[in-house]
Amino acid sequence: MSHQVVDQASPPGADPQPQPPGPYQRADLERYYRANQAVASNRDRLRDAQDEIRTLEHSEAVEVFQKQIDLLQKRLVTDPQYFNQLFISEGIDAIAWEFRKDELDPDFTYKLWGLLLREDDMSTLLMRFLWNISLKSKRKFIRAIDAHLSDRYPMFKGLSVNWPGENNIPPYIRPPEERAKDFDLVNQGYLGYMGLGYSFREVELFVWLEVLRDKQCDDRPCEIGLPVMDGGENKGGCPVKIHIPELLHLMGEGKFRQALELIKESNPLPNVTGRVCPQEIQCQGVCTHNQRPIEIGQLEWYLPQSQKVLNPNKYLQLPQAISPWAKAERPPIAVVGSGPAGLINAYLLSKEGYPVTVFEAFHALGGVLRYGIPEFRLPNELIDDVVKKVEQLGGKFVRNFIVGKTATLEALKRAGFWKIFIGTGAGLPRFMNVPGEHLLGILSANEFLTRVNLMQAHKEEYETPLPTTAGKQVMVIGGGNTAMDAARTARRLGGEVTIVYRRTQAEMPVRVEELHHALEEGIQLKVLRAPQEFVGDHKTQFVTRALLDVMALGEPDASGRRRPVATGAIEEMPVDLVIMALGNTSNPIVKDAEPELKTSKWGTIEIRSGTQETSVDDVYTGGDAARGGSTAIKAAGDGQEAAREIMGENPFSPSELKSLVEHAERYTETGQAPAKILDKLELAAGIVEFVVHSPLVAKAAKAGQFVRVLAWEKGELIPLTLADWDAAAGTIDLVIQGLGSSTIVMNKMQVGDAFAGIAGPLGLPSQLHRYAAGETLVFTAGGVGLPPVYPIMREHLALGNHVTLIAGFRTRELMFWAEPDARIGQLQAEFPDTLEVIYATNDGSFGVEGFVTGPLAGLLDAAKAGTGRTVGEVVTIGPPLMMRAVSDLTQPYGVRTIASLNSIMVDATGMCGACMVPVTSDGKLVRKHACIDGPEIDAHSIDWDKFIPRFQQYRAQEDRNRQRHGV
Ligand code: FAD
Repeated sequence: MSHQVVDQASPPGADPQPQPPGPYQRADLERYYRANQAVASNRDRLRDAQDEIRTLEHSEAVEVFQKQIDLLQKRLVTDPQYFNQLFISEGIDAIAWEFRKDELDPDFTYKLWGLLLREDDMSTLLMRFLWNISLKSKRKFIRAIDAHLSDRYPMFKGLSVNWPGENNIPPYIRPPEERAKDFDLVNQGYLGYMGLGYSFREVELFVWLEVLRDKQCDDRPCEIGLPVMDGGENKGGCPVKIHIPELLHLMGEGKFRQALELIKESNPLPNVTGRVCPQEIQCQGVCTHNQRPIEIGQLEWYLPQSQKVLNPNKYLQLPQAISPWAKAERPPIAVVGSGPAGLINAYLLSKEGYPVTVFEAFHALGGVLRYGIPEFRLPNELIDDVVKKVEQLGGKFVRNFIVGKTATLEALKRAGFWKIFIGTGAGLPRFMNVPGEHLLGILSANEFLTRVNLMQAHKEEYETPLPTTAGKQVMVIGGGNTAMDAARTARRLGGEVTIVYRRTQAEMPVRVEELHHALEEGIQLKVLRAPQEFVGDHKTQFVTRALLDVMALGEPDASGRRRPVATGAIEEMPVDLVIMALGNTSNPIVKDAEPELKTSKWGTIEIRSGTQETSVDDVYTGGDAARGGSTAIKAAGDGQEAAREIMGENPFSPSELKSLVEHAERYTETGQAPAKILDKLELAAGIVEFVVHSPLVAKAAKAGQFVRVLAWEKGELIPLTLADWDAAAGTIDLVIQGLGSSTIVMNKMQVGDAFAGIAGPLGLPSQLHRYAAGETLVFTAGGVGLPPVYPIMREHLALGNHVTLIAGFRTRELMFWAEPDARIGQLQAEFPDTLEVIYATNDGSFGVEGFVTGPLAGLLDAAKAGTGRTVGEVVTIGPPLMMRAVSDLTQPYGVRTIASLNSIMVDATGMCGACMVPVTSDGKLVRKHACIDGPEIDAHSIDWDKFIPRFQQYRAQEDRNRQRHGV
């Protein structure tokens, strides 16, 4: 049937007819007509096609096809992944096609980002695709996310401008006004964006976007550095040789786990080094994106930290393995010091199956990472993680063990350790030695930071005192990381802080980021200024003003930096607290104990060229101990290299190995044994004698030495002179008078309790001389000065010297050891002809009435008159005022007088400088340190006017602590 459209005109006068169709109706009609025609013509073709289908259905080809479809359906059920891949490759093809356009459109960009967020095979493939496309296409992608996604991600806004060389998404830094009030982490890295509500996957993509900037440079400057003209150490690069280009490649392809495994092969502490390494002079300093280097440090610590965030419980679990100590297949190694050098060395050796013990001077592990770098830069839990990893590999730690004091290197070898790595750092602070430096309120950055970081002195529940900082004018001197850490710590404690530096900002050796953050936090910077004198309040002895030399830059010095020269102009600055951060030199403890160990004129341990070997066989070193103050990553690099060198040929038979390992393990356990109180005697009111299990200290103790006691974890470190020791029984005796809050609480401890840590024996032993027959050596002991006097006196008596002991007490009730069966009585019985004892009490309740100076004056006068023995030497131990009185008394007689000073201290090994004693030498006031140069110091050289006020400086905090303990 055919239809024709007829144009029918209506006859005139007829009934109203339908109106002719308008233009649209007409078009519809035409379409209707054409469609009808098409159906009509196709109907015939359809009929033909159906006939053909019926015929072909039974053809061989179609039957094969049908079978294939059936098979595919089955596979869809059993192996859906296959189809996934099929669709993914199809999808990627489609995406690649989109990238051929000039720009990516919004819809496509949303979808692409959505796919990337899915964290599935497709997203990983997409990451790989985008990592591998040309830079031009990458730029297109960045332009697209900048243009279409920056509402949701403000950090994408403007990202495409000068990307990739000069623009990136920076890590999240907490705002200065918020962070300057607490000790929480400042640079929160990319994971910090999670705090703003972004998901873990979104953060992972931010990190990946940073990686996308990488150029995969052929000459790998970030890893190996740039060669220098003189052929020395390359400029920049990675001291622990992380394969950075491969690392970035893996991350670029979305293989974050593999990337972490790659890092761990060369660096077990990426979560630490990634945060504190001065990347701007290492890997990032030589990045070819020199305007804005790739954030390699941030990426380095993102990898372990993101695993920690994802799997907090699994993060540290290593596969179970038999401990190297149980296997005893390799000889034991001793590591001295638990800073980054020691930790990495211990980790790598344990991993290779060596039984390793780390001997650490402090009660806490990590070296400068813990006691120097504050938690707002490096949380302590990350150092604990590294320690746990070493422990999981079988490594052991002995805390409160000071090599050179508790045992020598030779003693460690005798104890079964085959080789030794010394990573003792450079812990001795430098001072300026300018007038007024003795004033109260002037301290080293080491002391300030140790009080805060290690001893948590800023927290109410901890005992250690801290100079008042809130509202005070704090001056920090120096331009390095230590200065910045001290300044930012003081700022957090409420101080108004100014950093004073003798060069300009450009020459400051600090990590750029730290300086930038410090300035943001409101810290002032005064450059081209150098303190030449400090002035204090006459009465309180606290510092009040600093006189600063105004400097200018002169010719470059050996470091290549322009030398600061004084202009002659002087400026004054009011100050309440001065913190000196002038760098550190090597602590002499190990060197002094090991004459064979060669050191440089700066005190650093010398190494054989191209190795980490020292001048002593089988002893290696690295880190600050060998370099002087350097960086954590260089220390780690040295520790790593030394580990490689240590893993040499094993010269021992299986039975020898077994014996060495058993020996070293026993020694380690002895060192780890708790300092238990085995006996307690109440000597007098408030005075207690403890017998404490401390076998290694007992074995090494010498007359005149002291120990550093941490009574409980939150307590303070207290120096206590050894009253006695028994090497065979493995015990030491301590006599404690409950005067301050800590000692009062300690005296309440009971038999069976244990001190949290005892380190020692510390200080130099007494120098023993043989005196002439007509001479006497006089000891003046005030109160609990008697216990430290006792072993020194005993040594002199054993040497054949005549000794006069003047023991002074306030009153008879406070006397002890005087009975015939007690220590002094026994000594008198043993040396009846050479020991004379005079007792004095202030109130005359026993012996001579008055102070020890009364009988002493009598002895001196008699000697002068020729009616008594010549006084060969006076040793005075007791309250500072008594020691001073003795010193003043003997001076006109010209009798050598020694005072034993257990002064203010924190670490007791010289690392903080708190034990400063102002001493006059050749007419000049210089500083000695009671912990290192003492405790015995020539009393006549001590400036007592300046020294005695130091004992009062923390009185207010002492009072507060006493109230808190209700004592
Ligand atoms: P250390 O970290 O000093 O560790 C030595 C360890 O040995 C200590 O634990 C010590 O107690 C112990 N020890 C010492 N003597 C003995 C002994 N006789 N017996 C047993 N144990 C002993 N570097 C950076 O890269 N980035 C930074 O941001 C940075 N900031 C710093 C901030 C401060 C405040 C300071 C002081 C230093 C900073 N440094 C920084 C330098 C860096 O911390 C050191 O270079 C690095 O820690 C040196 O490592 P090390 O293992 O050689 O020694």
